[in-house]
Amino acid sequence: MIPVLIAGGGPVGLATALELAHHGVRSIVVEPRTEVSWLRPRAKTTSARTMELFRRWGLAAVIRERAPLPVAWSDEAVFATSLLGREITRIGGCFGLDLAGDDLVAEPGQQVAQPLVEQVLREAVAASPHASLYAGRVEGMREDGDGVSVTVSGREMRAEYVVGCDGSRSVTRSAIGARYEGRDDARPNFNVVFRAPGLAERVPHGPAVHYWVLSPSQPGLVGRLDLADTWWCIGQGVAGDADPLLLVRALVGDDIDAEVLATDPWKARMLLADRYAGDRVFLAGDSAHQNPPWGGHGFNTGIGDAVNIGWRLAAVLNGWAPPALLRGYEPERRPVAERTIAEAAQNMATLAPEVTDPRLAGDDDAFDEARPSVAAAVERAKDSEFHSLDLVLGYTYAGSPHICDGAGERLPHRWLAPGGESLYDRLGRGFTLVGDLSLPAAADTIKAAADEGIPLDTWHDPGPGPDPRPAPESNGLALVRPDQHIAWKGEGDPRAALRRATGHA
Ligand SMILES: Cc1cc2nc3c(=O)[nH]c(=O)nc-3n(C[C@H](O)[C@H](O)[C@H](O)COP(=O)(O)OP(=O)(O)OC[C@H]3O[C@@H](n4cnc5c(N)ncnc54)[C@H](O)[C@@H]3O)c2cc1C
Repeated sequence: MIPVLIAGGGPVGLATALELAHHGVRSIVVEPRTEVSWLRPRAKTTSARTMELFRRWGLAAVIRERAPLPVAWSDEAVFATSLLGREITRIGGCFGLDLAGDDLVAEPGQQVAQPLVEQVLREAVAASPHASLYAGRVEGMREDGDGVSVTVSGREMRAEYVVGCDGSRSVTRSAIGARYEGRDDARPNFNVVFRAPGLAERVPHGPAVHYWVLSPSQPGLVGRLDLADTWWCIGQGVAGDADPLLLVRALVGDDIDAEVLATDPWKARMLLADRYAGDRVFLAGDSAHQNPPWGGHGFNTGIGDAVNIGWRLAAVLNGWAPPALLRGYEPERRPVAERTIAEAAQNMATLAPEVTDPRLAGDDDAFDEARPSVAAAVERAKDSEFHSLDLVLGYTYAGSPHICDGAGERLPHRWLAPGGESLYDRLGRGFTLVGDLSLPAAADTIKAAADEGIPLDTWHDPGPGPDPRPAPESNGLALVRPDQHIAWKGEGDPRAALRRATGHA
C-alpha cells in the first residue's frame, strides 16, 4: 500500500511530495507529462512566503541560483505607452523582491518562470529516497474505510491517502463529489513567448520585472524571461485567434523582428471548490481554487496548501497524530483561497485598459497633460497588487480547530546573526517551542510532548532585546508548528495545547 498517492505533478503535487519526504513519508506522484512545459511560463512570481517554504527543503538557494533573472536585478514595475515608448510612472518594491536581509522574511520573493520551479522540484523528488514520479494519468478513485483504490492508466493502485493536485480539470475533485463555485471573467487574454535579439538594449526604462503598456490601442504587459533574448507578453482583451506577432509589435511599439515561440489564450477564473476533502482524499492547488493571475498568487497559494496537508498527513502516518488532524486542512486553507480570489479579482478590476488615456498617444503636450492623472490612477489602483505582504505573509489560521485562542499567525521572522542565520533555520521538523525556556511552562510543555509522543524541538530565545519577540503578547513562549505558524502562545495548560494542535482534542 502506498502511503500517499499524489494525482498531478505540477508545482503543487511536487511540493506535496517534498513536504511528505521532509517528514520521511513515502509518496508517488502520478503525472502524464514526462517533461516540464518550458514554453508555458504561467506563474512568474514566487512569493517571499513560498521561498521561505522552499528554504525548509533546502531549495530556495537552488531556485535563486538557477533563476535567469537575479533577484537584485529589479523590483520595479514600469508603466509606459509601449515597451519602447514614454514612461508614465513606476512602482518599486514589488512582490517582496526588495526584502533581501530584511528581518521581515527569511527569503525575499523571486521572479522565475514556473517551468524552472517545476524542474527544480522534479529533480528534488527524483533525488529523494521517499518520493517518486510515475508517468500516468489518474482516471478515477474510490475511498473505503482502509484506503483509496486509484485507477492509474488502466492499472489499480492502492493508497492510504490521496492528494489531488491535478489542476483545473481535476479528476479528484469529481471523485469526491466536490465542485467549483464562482465565475470566469468575460475578457480574453493572450500570452505570447517570443525571442527578440537586440530588443533589451533598446528599452529606455532600465530593468523592470513588468513593463505595463497603457496604450489605448493595445493594452497589456511585457517582461523578460531571461537576460538573453526571451520575453513574455500578455495582450489584455485579446482573443486566441489574434496574430501573435502583431500583438508583440503593438506592445513593443515598433515593427521588430521577433520569433514567436509559443502562444497561450486564457481567461481569468475566480473559482473555489465547495469542499476540499473526502475522508482520505484531499484537494490542493488549482484543483481546489483558481484566481486571476494579477498579484501573482495562484501557484503560491497552492504551495501553502501542499505544506499544510503534507505535514498533517505525515503526522498521522508517522503515528503521532490521529486522523482527526486532517480535518483541520479545509478550515485553514479554504479561507486563505477565498481571500486570495477576492484580492486578485480586485486587482483585475483595474487593468491597463481602465487606466489608459487617448492623450498618452498624442504629442508631447497631450502626453504631459494626461500623465499626472494616469500616474495617480495607476499608483492608487495597483499599489495593493504589487505590495500584498499582508496577504502573502499575513494570513492566519486563527479560528482553526487546531489553533489555540490568540494564535494562528506565521512566527515573526528575524535574523539571528549576520551572514544569513535565520530563526527559521532553528525550527525542527515537528513542533518547536520557541521562547524563554527557563519559564516553568517550558519544562511542562517539553514533558507533555514527550508523554504524548509529539516530536518537539526547542529554541531558547529569551528576548526581550531590540528584536521582535516570537510571541510578543504571550508568556514568552510560542509553540510553532511544522509550517512555521504559531499554534499556542504559552497561556494555560501546555498538554491541552499540544493535544489540540495535533488533533487529539
Ligand atoms: C497566464 C497565467 C499566469 C499565471 N501567473 C501566475 C503568477 O504570476 N503567480 C502564481 O502564483 N500563479 C500564476 N498562475 C497560476 C499558476 O500557473 C497555477 O496556479 C499553478 O500552475 C497551479 O499549480 P497546480 O500544481 O495546482 O496545477 P497545475 O500546474 O495545473 O498542475 C496540474 C498537473 O496535474 C496533471 N494532471 C491533470 N490531470 C491529471 C490526471 N487525471 N492524472 C494525473 N495528473 C494529472 C497535469 O499534467 C499537471 O501537471 C498563472 C496562470 C496563468 C494561466
